[in-house]
Amino acid sequence: MFDIKTDNAGQDIYKLIEKLFPICRSITGNGVRETLAQVKQHIAVDIKEVPSGTKVFDWTVPREWNVDDAYIKDSAGNRIVDFRDNNLHLVSYSVPVNKKMNLEELKEHLHTDPDHPEWIPYRTSYYNETWGFCLSQNQFQQLSDDEYEVRVDSRLENGSLTYGEYFLPGTTDEEILFFTHLCHPSLCNDNLSGVALTTFLAKLVESQETRYSYRFVFAPATIGSITWLSQNEKKLGKIKHGLVVAVVGDSGPMTYKRTRAGNAEIDRAVIQVLRDSGDEHEILEFSPYGYDERQFCSPGVNLSVGRLTRTPNGCYPEYHTSADNLDLVKAEALRDSLEKYLKVLEVLESNRTYINMSPKGEPQLGKRGLYRTTGGHQDIATRNLAMLWILNQSDGNHSLLDISEKSGLPYRTLIHAIKDLSECGLIEENSLHQR
Ligand code: ZN
Repeated sequence: MFDIKTDNAGQDIYKLIEKLFPICRSITGNGVRETLAQVKQHIAVDIKEVPSGTKVFDWTVPREWNVDDAYIKDSAGNRIVDFRDNNLHLVSYSVPVNKKMNLEELKEHLHTDPDHPEWIPYRTSYYNETWGFCLSQNQFQQLSDDEYEVRVDSRLENGSLTYGEYFLPGTTDEEILFFTHLCHPSLCNDNLSGVALTTFLAKLVESQETRYSYRFVFAPATIGSITWLSQNEKKLGKIKHGLVVAVVGDSGPMTYKRTRAGNAEIDRAVIQVLRDSGDEHEILEFSPYGYDERQFCSPGVNLSVGRLTRTPNGCYPEYHTSADNLDLVKAEALRDSLEKYLKVLEVLESNRTYINMSPKGEPQLGKRGLYRTTGGHQDIATRNLAMLWILNQSDGNHSLLDISEKSGLPYRTLIHAIKDLSECGLIEENSLHQR
């Protein structure tokens, strides 16, 4: 189960990122719809619209923002800053403007990143009615004393907030939730990588028989997760585990941020997978700062939702700038992230307790052909050890994850040993006590 080949998946995810890259997204508007329409080419995602003005917990769904064009022209009529060249040039949610002004006045609305003079920063102003343009520090320094024409052809009107949801039923109604934010414009790692990886993860899960039901949510950050939670409050009890999927395409090591509880099954499953991978990784404690785990782990919601990223938000220099582009994300990193997500699902799907059917003394493995002495030495020794651990701990109280943690043996080794021991009747699944 979940032993899925991911050889070409990195390229497939990358190709979807390339398609989504030019679209101007924000927390509402047609960019979100176009993005979900692309996702829909791969999975049958349900697209939901929540009207502006809807109360969602302590928040209100804002007016919908769409933009047709935006630029700054110099007195000679040249577009010196042009939204059509790069949608990061316009501060997201800028109100409409059509005005001439001098450099002094214009400067109050310009944003740069002096630490990285070639990059355009990404800025938003969702809840503060203003307008602004972002440009490189280099370009900013070349602006001369001139009269500028500023034009923002945007519309802020009653409409709706759009999100996508894809549900896959399993043999039980207990759910695993994946949430990814899709509100950023032309930025790749944050978070087209998350949108595209979630799409392909859903597509692969769809091909499997699963014990859990799966829910994949594509929504804007913060207001989107709050809206989703508020609209789906009755269903939350079914969610047993969850992950926020974000920044999964850079070449840095995987980073896991624990749930609010800190030692939930999802925390233990992810940490086990990262440990077994032998790859460099980092484990962060929960904090109420970051991505949408903040909402899922708010005290009145308190779901077991962790966050699995590569280099976390804010910790790579290209973060929230035009350098978070198609060069920053790599197909190989995307494939590696996908594989680790699938391994986490393998653990969650297979984690259960067993009963040793011959618990008095060690059962004689040799006569059942289980105690192997030939073959790759290391591998055989580990396999034998795995059987001894499983037999010893299978009193119905220790799950495979418990045994893996206690023994230090890789989880996959335990799965193989379980198969051998089950086939000869030495252990049985503890169905009365599944987890
Ligand atoms: Zn971001």
